[in-house]
Parts: sequence; C-alpha cells; structure tokens
Amino acid sequence: MAYAVQQNDRLIGEIIDLTHDGSGVAKIDGYPLFIPGALPGETVEFKVTKTLKKYGFAKLLNIVEPSEDRVEPPCPVFPECGGCQIQHLSYEGQLERKRKMVRDVMDRIAKLPDVPVHPVKGMEHPWRYRNKSQIPFAERDGKVVAGFFRRGTHTIMDTETCLIQSTEADVVMRTIKHSLHELGIKAYDEQKDKGFLRHVVIRKGKATGETMVVLVTRNRKFKKKDEVVELIRSVVPDVTSIVQNVNDRKTNVIMGDETVSLYGPPVITDKIGGVTFEISARSFYQINPDQTEVLYSQALDYANLSGNETVIDAYCGIGTISLFLAKQAKEVYGVEIVPQAIEDAKRNAEVNGFTNTRFEAGAAEDVIPRWYKEGKRFDVLVVDPPRKGCDEHLLRTILEYRPKRLVYVSCNPATLARDLRILEDGGYKTKEVQPVDMFPQSSHVEAVTWLELR
Ligand code: SAH
Repeated sequence: MAYAVQQNDRLIGEIIDLTHDGSGVAKIDGYPLFIPGALPGETVEFKVTKTLKKYGFAKLLNIVEPSEDRVEPPCPVFPECGGCQIQHLSYEGQLERKRKMVRDVMDRIAKLPDVPVHPVKGMEHPWRYRNKSQIPFAERDGKVVAGFFRRGTHTIMDTETCLIQSTEADVVMRTIKHSLHELGIKAYDEQKDKGFLRHVVIRKGKATGETMVVLVTRNRKFKKKDEVVELIRSVVPDVTSIVQNVNDRKTNVIMGDETVSLYGPPVITDKIGGVTFEISARSFYQINPDQTEVLYSQALDYANLSGNETVIDAYCGIGTISLFLAKQAKEVYGVEIVPQAIEDAKRNAEVNGFTNTRFEAGAAEDVIPRWYKEGKRFDVLVVDPPRKGCDEHLLRTILEYRPKRLVYVSCNPATLARDLRILEDGGYKTKEVQPVDMFPQSSHVEAVTWLELR
C-alpha cells in the first residue's frame, strides 16, 4: 500500500496535540506525524524523516504561525538533553496542558465528564526545584565530561549548568569535572569498564540547608579522598556530609551496596510540613520539596480527618504521607514493598515522636487483605501507587471491605482513570481531582483524587 506521506516530503500542517516526550503531533490525511519542537496550535513546515505503518516522524523546518504560549527555552542544551521536555512552552501553558491531560483521561478512560478537574497547582518559580541530582561522569577524548543523557541515548551531554537543579549541584558538578585529572583521578569508562568516578549525587534538605555529596566509585580504594573532600568543602561551605558509594558492577543502577563516610554524618535531614525526615545516600525521597508539601496537604485535605479515623497509607515509601496523616488521625497503617523504605519510615516516625503509626513491608495487595481478615477496619484509604497504578487485587479488596473515603495520589493519569472506572463501577463516587505540578519543564503530571462510598 502506498502511503499518503513519503519520507523526505516537505509539508505544512497544524499541530493538534503534544506527546509525553514533548513532540508536536500533526495529522496528514489521518496519518500522525511526530514533530519534536512543535507546539499545539502552531502551523509548521516540516520534513518527513521516517515513516512506519501507523505513524511517522518529521523534522521541524519552520514555524509558520507560532503558538501564543511559545517561549525561548532558557537552557542551552534544550531540547537535546533528555531531562526536560517542554521548556519551549510558557509555564502557564504547561499548567494548562497538564490540566487538559487529566481532563482528557477523565472523559475518555474514566468516563467521568462531570467530575471537576481543578486548575493545576504550580510553582511560583518553576526552576532550580530539584533537591537531588544524579550526574554521570565519563572520559571522552582525554577529557572528563559530566552532565545528563542526550534524549533517548546513554551518551552524556557535557553540561555546565542545569536550571532545574540546585546551584550547589551546579558548582559541585563543574568543580569536580574540571579538577579530576589534576588530582590524578579518571572518570569511569562504561565501554571498557575502567576508571574510578562513575556518578556524583548531590542531595539537599531544602528546609535545613543540609547538603550531601555522594561520590559513586568503581573501587573502594580512594587514594585522593582527602583532597576531594577539601575541594568540595572549599566550593560549597554548606556541605554537611560527603560519602563514597562503591559500585563495582557493570550496570545502569547508579549506587552499589556499600557506603563509606568521608566527612560528616552519613545522613542529612529535611522537613516537610513540620515533619523531620532523615535521608541517607540511597533513601527514596520526593525530589521537589515545595510541591511535595502542596501535594500532601491536598491529600490530607481530601482525607478530611477529625482525629478518630484509622487510615491506610498504601505504597507509603519512607512514610512521608503517613506522617502527614498521623498528625490528624487516630492511627495510620503504612505498607510498602521495599523493606529498607519501611525501616526509614519507622525511624522517621520515631524521630518525630509519633506513637500512632504502624508500618509493614510487603505488597499492598497482600498485606491489606490480611489486615482486614485479622479484623482491622479502616475509615480512609490513601494510595500512591507507581506508574502502573493500583494492583487489581487491591482494588477488589477495597470493593469488598468498602472504606468510606479514598484518596488516590497518582503520577500517571491514564492508570488513575482506569482505576477510577473500576472503583466507580464498584460503588464509589469520584468527587474531584486536583493536579499538582511536581516536575515543571517536564511533561509529568501528578494528581490527587477524592472518592466517597456512595
Ligand atoms: N508515598 C510515597 C512513595 C510513592 S512512590 C511518597 O510520597 O514518597 C510508590 C511506592 O510504591 C514506591 O515506594 C514503591 O516501592 C512502592 N510499591 C511498588 N509496588 C508496590 C506494591 N505492590 N505494594 C506496596 N508498595 C509498592
């Protein structure tokens, strides 16, 4: 069959949609073409670079009619760098876009056209929001390179600054990169599995200012460690903790099992909404602390607690939401599949003096039915699952035992909508949805949904 569109065609078309990775979508005789850099509402000229059976790709040549929401991306490595997808869209445009993404799945997948989807709660300053950066280092043509990966590849783009990470992370990244060879240290060579420094990870407690630098190395033996510690402290005087993490495996996983303290304690602390958290090199922790507070406050608001409720926090990680809820609930039960995270959750509860929390390691879909079978009863259930959404068995358990209120925190609108349909069919009413922008400049969208038993 001959396609209406051929490779190397130069065409003009209107952009009707934006994909998750930030490509504009045009349709020519019903055939979708993905055009990186183009925005919805624009008329653009493009050249077809590749055609597949059901869709193709094209290169943007010329913007005939720009979108009102188009802005000049401030970062010099956008869009080649894979870190951000929508810097060329104004922040207002980004928020509107994210609301539309949620609205769309509510209509199409959840079949809930009447459920209110509120305007996205965004940031006042949507830059430099990350409290954690993981920067890969490598040798290239006799020089050290460090930065983020080129979009869709495993090739480092040598970068001097990243506008969504902290200025401390910028300084540490540049300083180590430019001094490494002078110190006689080689960066890691992935192909040959040789060299020493693999990654530098910088974590900062936004509320406390405490900063940790993790040097991920291929070997344990670290000859110049004193010099490196001095160097880091001289450029970032606020640094409170420097650790070495040893990763001798040939793997994409950033950190290995062994962590050695080089300077200060092996943890930093941070505070969200008055609750203190201890964070070690490998702890899971939300990466946008300002918006995390917004997100959790919304969840707490929808949970509508009076102090008498027994609450479940399913997929609880290190217990961040659980401890937020524990301030206003009688009891909170947290469940999470990673045992180390549950250890952190228990310690965090203790550090903050909570006595009304229980944490258990295991799959939510196994542990929660067991709690019910043991006779425990819950008034409110909060879930915050990974991208694939809630496990089917967990949804069935909810429909069997029918807690009166649900709060669903989601990082993937499509699986949220799928699960809402199941819960609606089983007797719940979706009251409202509040999206929160946790990742400005990227196309990710997070949303909190409130449901009541009918
Ligand atoms: N609520 C936490 C973490 C949310 S991320 C926070 O806000 O920080 C989702 C979590 O679900 C991850 O920690 C992941 O390890 C956990 N998880 C994944 N599958 C799970 C399952 N089947 N049962 C319980 N937890 C699971």
